[in-house]
Amino acid sequence: MIDAELLGILACPRCEPRPPLELHGSMLVCTICRHGYRIVNGIPHLLAEEAIEPSVVEEEIGAKPES
Ligand SMILES: [Zn+2]
Repeated sequence: MIDAELLGILACPRCEPRPPLELHGSMLVCTICRHGYRIVNGIPHLLAEEAIEPSVVEEEIGAKPES
């Protein structure tokens, strides 16, 4: 899992100034542009070209059951 310290230094590659990211399950979501970035095997894929569209992000977050 991503720990809080690491989360604190990660930032969205699409935005300036680099805004904080929210952790949603296995995805990091930018607080400004709402693009998502997947965490694969504990490694966040923070690449602009791998960003998930905000509409898809909202769907995934909304559909994700809280357990
Ligand atoms: Zn962003």
